[in-house]
Amino acid sequence: MIPIKSKPSTMIDSARSDLPGDISFPLEIRLHGRGGQGGVTCAKLIAAIYAQTGLNVQTFGDYGAERSGAPVRAFTRVDREPIKNRNKVYRPNHLLVLDAALLGPQVLDGVAAGAVILLNSAERAEKYAEQFAAYRFGVIDATGIARVHGIGTSAVVIINTTLVGAYAKLLGLPFEVLGEAYTKMGLADDLAAAKEAYQKVSIQRPASALSGAVVGGELPTSLPPIRPLTEHSEDIATSLKTGNWSTQLPGYEDFVAPCNYACPAGNDVVGFIQALKISGADAAAQLLLRTQALPSVCGRVCPAPCMRECNRHLMDGAVNIRSLERWISDHAETRLLAQKTDKVHSLAVVGGGPAGLSAAYQLALQGHKVTIFEKNTKLGGVLRYGIPIYRLPDEVLERDLERILALGILSQCDHPVDKTELERLHREYDAVIISKGFSDAMTLAAAGETLDGIEQGLDFLARSREGELKLSGDLVVIGGGNTAIDCARSALRSGASSVKLVYRRSRAEMPAIAEEIEDAIREGVQLLSLRQPVAFRGVGCVAGIVLAEVELGEADVDGRRRPLVTERTTEINCSRVLLALGQENELGLLPEAWQMRESRAWSAAEALNIWFAGDCSTADGTVAHAIGNGRLTALAALASLDGTDNGTFPLRPGSLVAPAQVRFSYFPILAPHQDRHKVLENYRNSFEEVNLGLSSQEEAERCFSCGRCTQCDTCLVYCPEGVISRSDSGYRIDEEYCKGCGICVAECPRRAIDLNDKGLSDVS
Ligand SMILES: Cc1cc2nc3c(=O)[nH]c(=O)nc-3n(C[C@H](O)[C@H](O)[C@H](O)COP(=O)(O)OP(=O)(O)OC[C@H]3O[C@@H](n4cnc5c(N)ncnc54)[C@H](O)[C@@H]3O)c2cc1C
Ligand code: SF4
Ligand code: SF4
Ligand code: SF4
Repeated sequence: MIPIKSKPSTMIDSARSDLPGDISFPLEIRLHGRGGQGGVTCAKLIAAIYAQTGLNVQTFGDYGAERSGAPVRAFTRVDREPIKNRNKVYRPNHLLVLDAALLGPQVLDGVAAGAVILLNSAERAEKYAEQFAAYRFGVIDATGIARVHGIGTSAVVIINTTLVGAYAKLLGLPFEVLGEAYTKMGLADDLAAAKEAYQKVSIQRPASALSGAVVGGELPTSLPPIRPLTEHSEDIATSLKTGNWSTQLPGYEDFVAPCNYACPAGNDVVGFIQALKISGADAAAQLLLRTQALPSVCGRVCPAPCMRECNRHLMDGAVNIRSLERWISDHAETRLLAQKTDKVHSLAVVGGGPAGLSAAYQLALQGHKVTIFEKNTKLGGVLRYGIPIYRLPDEVLERDLERILALGILSQCDHPVDKTELERLHREYDAVIISKGFSDAMTLAAAGETLDGIEQGLDFLARSREGELKLSGDLVVIGGGNTAIDCARSALRSGASSVKLVYRRSRAEMPAIAEEIEDAIREGVQLLSLRQPVAFRGVGCVAGIVLAEVELGEADVDGRRRPLVTERTTEINCSRVLLALGQENELGLLPEAWQMRESRAWSAAEALNIWFAGDCSTADGTVAHAIGNGRLTALAALASLDGTDNGTFPLRPGSLVAPAQVRFSYFPILAPHQDRHKVLENYRNSFEEVNLGLSSQEEAERCFSCGRCTQCDTCLVYCPEGVISRSDSGYRIDEEYCKGCGICVAECPRRAIDLNDKGLSDVS
């Protein structure tokens, strides 16, 4: 398709005086010629002539692998309005036939009486007088004229420029209008031949009584209106079967959106966003809740690796997926019901954190009996006793918990499971899933660490969650993870005069969620990076810390640069210290004869029906990972009990939608909708939720729907053969006529269709 830029619309009216008054718009022109005659250039030249009068034009050829001499077609459309119709021309107002031998029903198809027809022929006009009595008809020996003027070679004479001269005369245009167009296209040398054709063309006008009749008789007398881009209409079928010279066929299939692939919980992100966009929060929740037991939680605290991978990231900013997930969970009433199963299993889950809750939820959804054994007084794990309420309010957690427990899951809180109890559970239940999280918090082993005022950050956070905690004085937090940041921000809110965060590497290496670090600094937490506490000072109670400067050495196994503690030290004063140095992963509840291998408990060579899930198994350290792993562990346990496949499949190579496979130009630039935040002054002394989320679901509109067809009709509209039509389930491709050019694939904005070698496509 070759769009030729027209003059600005303000010029149209003055320039149009060149055109005869009987031309009506849209004007559709079709050329029939043979490969090598220059038919496509002819169509372009005609388009250029109209464009210079200020009109909008569109022109393109219609040929594939045809050799020189094979019939080809070209089309030109002219209109006052911008042209949106991308179909071929089926009902031409003007028809140019570059070879009289082509004349036949196919060439004359759709040409209504009164149309303009120009024929290249050495025959006299009288020969065609009767056949074309209904048309404004012209005959010109363009081949003879072009040969005399030496256009082309003696074997292949190129007649396009000559023929256009005759066309101008046939329309009643002054010859001068050709000059500019020929010069622009580098064809000025051919003007002499064009002039000769202009002078010599024989013209016959239609008998007015015949005007309006249609060749073949089956077409309406007036041209139908051009339909909008997205409206499908049945049109005249192409009659050129492609046979076995086409080697590829397009096929509709789902490809994997990178957001889906990156979500550790296994959420169908593209699915839930599209459902939200089209049908609202409840429809989206139907999809989201299949994988996600705790959407209100993840919609608030997930580090959102999905957004890091979002293809829109490279255009104008990632889709705000996390907040859309939050929007759905905050606005939907939907909950999924437990399915019925013939073979009900009874399973025990040890630990009621996100991994255990997710495992229990999935098992209950499939109709199995589940009991959660939790050592604390309430379910939730770190969500209940770690993450502060200004990030995750109690009522939000309760809402997700209530939906989970409504599936009939039993819970026994204040019920720590030790070795003996685990052996009992193993005997009495079909399977046990252990999701006990990390265990003891680590210490520094530095001098003075037992002084009063030094406390584990996790204990501090648990106390802080339980009620009002009043602090004063200068507080120091040691660590760089989520616990450290939560301690620092909670301490500020509890009244500490100042809060310093001491971390031994640089800010870039801090494992905490980047936005949380930013928020902490914005709220007034001071970051002291590249510092290692080597001693605590004070009498009875901590009064200061000796910090050694740290330099960064080579990268260690996890890719982070190793901290090298120097002899250079400084001291800072403080009256309270919170240690947030990470947690050990120990499995003290396993009887001595059992070990954990590949996330399962073994007694010597015997695999037991005991699985591990969440942080205690993977040490991934995020809520979404715990949820995803809990779900997959539940499926693995069930598959093992039933002797079936666990239903998970590895990613098919090449099925991920890369940014280069999304047509960014199809989508308007639109900045992401940001979350609303409380104003800064309110941060101190308030544990109210800081992030208020999105104000509407409009952000869903920004999703490209990577890899998933939205039925946008683009492929249908752009197919030059018109072989794509709608079907009940989407689209149907008429394989007999598809030439495998791949234009539909190239034009699809989101890679929801691909070319396959013939015989491999799965066209629905
Ligand atoms: C302070 C803090 C802030 C965090 N912030 C974020 C964040 O913003 N975003 C994020 O994605 N991740 C965050 N994380 C990490 C995330 O919370 C964890 O990765 C996640 O909770 C792990 O889930 P889990 O179910 O494996 O373990 P846990 O949440 O630790 O749950 C384990 C449960 O098992 C129970 N249990 C342990 N032993 C026994 C036993 N013997 N018998 C019975 N019950 C037992 C525990 O009481 C607990 O309820 C944070 C972690 C911390 C500590
Ligand atoms: S759980 Fe996290 S990674 Fe998955 S969709 Fe939600 S925000 Fe994205
Ligand atoms: S644009 Fe939509 S489908 Fe594509 S990666 Fe981003 S969120 Fe996923
Ligand atoms: S172009 Fe539109 S209708 Fe065609 S496959 Fe792509 S998304 Fe679907």
